[in-house]
Amino acid sequence: MTAKITDLQQARPRDMLGRPLHDLRISVMDRCNFRCPYCMPRETFHEHYRFLRSSERLSFDEIVRITRLFVQLGVRKVRLTGGEPLLRANLAELVGDLTSIEGVEDVALTTNGVLLAQHAAELKANGLHRITVSLDSLDAAIFTQMSGGFAELERVLEGISAAVAAGLTPIKINTVVQRGINDHTVLDLVERFRGTGVIVRFIEYMDVGNRNHWSMDRVVPSRELLARIHARWPVHPVQGRYRGEVAERYAFDDGAGEIGFISSVTNPFCGDCTRARLSSEGVFYTCLFASTGVDLRGPLRSGASDEALLELIRSTWQQRTDRYSELRSSLRNNEYPLKKIEMYYIGG
Ligand code: SAM
Ligand code: SF4
Ligand code: SF4
Repeated sequence: MTAKITDLQQARPRDMLGRPLHDLRISVMDRCNFRCPYCMPRETFHEHYRFLRSSERLSFDEIVRITRLFVQLGVRKVRLTGGEPLLRANLAELVGDLTSIEGVEDVALTTNGVLLAQHAAELKANGLHRITVSLDSLDAAIFTQMSGGFAELERVLEGISAAVAAGLTPIKINTVVQRGINDHTVLDLVERFRGTGVIVRFIEYMDVGNRNHWSMDRVVPSRELLARIHARWPVHPVQGRYRGEVAERYAFDDGAGEIGFISSVTNPFCGDCTRARLSSEGVFYTCLFASTGVDLRGPLRSGASDEALLELIRSTWQQRTDRYSELRSSLRNNEYPLKKIEMYYIGG
């Protein structure tokens, strides 16, 4: 056993900037039951938009096989995302399969929460370790606007309660903050979840994909939010960030828990980025802002051996130079990259 683990460690590839492969984000479903304008704006993702056919999506067996290979190369944490992952039938079965892979230490899920109440207990029973629920505002009208017209706030809140009841704790909430849209409602979110064990994390609005009309004017820098929250409920930084952790964490001075900030625009963290991404149709991407990826489904379906697939993944990682967020302003000025992959497809 010890020898096996040592062998695995020796096999861990590093990219061109010395970063190991540690996390795998798997988009299990390209479709979504929301149309958040910052992610899948309705004008593009309309009723005639061609999503993948089910035969084009990786099957659970294929996802498990690919995950095993990533684990051999160093992955320890897996996150299921989308699109909306809970639209994928029998997702809990996949969770069960992934948690039983030797070497996988953590299986997490990011969801918009609409279908969570009905699935929380089953996900927990199948070994899901952690869950993140996206929730942009407690104001019903703003929530509906930011989900693209879906008035599902109450269902999402029920989903969060069900996740708490199922013991999927500590639950994290992801809140994308956009200036002039929901930035005046962040204190309500903090107030609601302070002292409940649920950790709210504010995400700077990012220029993912090509279709969300991103502009820097809409980004609220984390330090600005922090100052506003601190003025109301004093906080202090939590030390002990591990490599690859995306959120800057703060604890309330009065002991009522934590909040977090994901500052990918104003304080990028590419230097520690150990995340690989797998799209629903089996394309492997080395960055959220990639314009191209490496197809794994093709070789997999035409009978490639594990060794051949391992070599493909290893060599792709070893050639990785991505650090889009650190280079954002200069790249955007040069209008590069011309075409990025959309977030719903690659997974957030
Ligand atoms: N549908 C699920 C959900 O919303 O939680 C999972 C997929 S979603 C793409 C993953 C995360 O990406 C969500 O928390 C969402 O808020 C975030 N996200 C999407 N577009 C974003 C953007 N332009 N900037 C920052 N975060 C974004
Ligand atoms: Fe769907 Fe999540 Fe994107 Fe919103 S952020 S459109 S819920 S995939
Ligand atoms: Fe990682 Fe790319 Fe994001 Fe940088 S921009 S943190 S390399 S996913």
